[in-house]
Amino acid sequence: MPRYHIWTIGCQMNKAESERLGSYFEEHGYKATATAEAADVIVLNSCVVRQSAEDRVINKLNALKSLKKTRPDTTLAVTGCWVNSNVDELRRDFPYVDRFFGPGECPQWFENAGWDRALPRDAAPCAYVPIIQGCNNFCSYCIVPYRRGRERSRPLADIICEVRERVHRGSREVTLLGQNVDSYGHDLPDQPDLADLLTEVNDIEGLARIRFLTNHPKDMSRRLITAIARLDRVCEHISLPAQSGSNAILKMMKRGYTVEDYRRLVDEIQKEVPGVALSTDVIVGFPSETEAQFRETYDLLADLKFDTVHVAAYSPRPGTSATRELVDDVPAAEKKRRLNEIERLQEGIATEIGADFLGKTVEVLVEGKKGDRWQGRTRTDRLVFFDSDDDCRGRLMAIRIEHTSPWSLQGEPDKKE
Ligand code: SF4
Repeated sequence: MPRYHIWTIGCQMNKAESERLGSYFEEHGYKATATAEAADVIVLNSCVVRQSAEDRVINKLNALKSLKKTRPDTTLAVTGCWVNSNVDELRRDFPYVDRFFGPGECPQWFENAGWDRALPRDAAPCAYVPIIQGCNNFCSYCIVPYRRGRERSRPLADIICEVRERVHRGSREVTLLGQNVDSYGHDLPDQPDLADLLTEVNDIEGLARIRFLTNHPKDMSRRLITAIARLDRVCEHISLPAQSGSNAILKMMKRGYTVEDYRRLVDEIQKEVPGVALSTDVIVGFPSETEAQFRETYDLLADLKFDTVHVAAYSPRPGTSATRELVDDVPAAEKKRRLNEIERLQEGIATEIGADFLGKTVEVLVEGKKGDRWQGRTRTDRLVFFDSDDDCRGRLMAIRIEHTSPWSLQGEPDKKE
């Protein structure tokens, strides 16, 4: 039986695509292997959001060069954001790679047979379903629109069909994915929006929870917020990248909103969706960011107290307008200091939010085991660990929280429930 190996880095979108790719191979009689050395087909699913991710792809390709020399029959293919209109250049630089195909594209191994229907076979309790590819926003620091192209929404009926199929195979939660899910549908004939999609997914029998990633503050509509509040399976958890607390920096980032707009939106969400957990992303050390501007970001986070903050130090990506037009003038050590400061702040906030759970019973969807312990998440996306001798995978369980930390909760099944 031929064997395949898929190496994946990057976002949930890439993970979802790798799952689909794996199923596609299996439907054509391939078996997965844990190492590239044992595979007949190796696929690297690449990411270029940060320079470090791109470097990892290149290192991996360099490491596989000798393997291709000793085993020239092995097929080596590359997909993901690294592959776009630059294919000729990639072919020149990496002549030993057999195939390049773009993100989300059919790999064309078997004359497209079954690609549309390829779905993961094993029913993970939490499934990831792409709903829109690409982005039209062109934030000045971001490479995604150049690499993943313009927004292309999947037809609503296709998504519903895939979610139904996943639920039929045992998934209980679905995360709808896109670089900007708030743009969903504008390019489709009937122009459904994300609220319409959530409403239909909410009706799928057997599905317990719905999540969606990632929102853009300038595009999140009141209609969507109302839908989140109204639909019982949509989790009270929203990712809303702020990126900066300084209006001057937001303008240079070309984000299309002000800090005041952002605060108003958060306020509206918190009023409409009680108990909502918000996560955000911020970039520190953007070109010309002063200490005072950094402080504005710090104050925004201290004030709004997000459940989760993903913080990154700015790094220029060739091809973006920030790299062409702005000077990366914040020293690396200073970026690191700002990053550490945000991480310390967030650790304190996450400790406080976690402590609020102590003694409470929460609903946990169990994803699987980590070591000896079961792990799952609350509707607000808090990680929970507990012990049980039962097979809890895929179950919704009531867990009474006995210990808390900034990053996770520990508890025991609540016998009373
Ligand atoms: S919204 Fe901005 S940061 Fe997000 S993918 Fe699009 S261009 Fe990149």
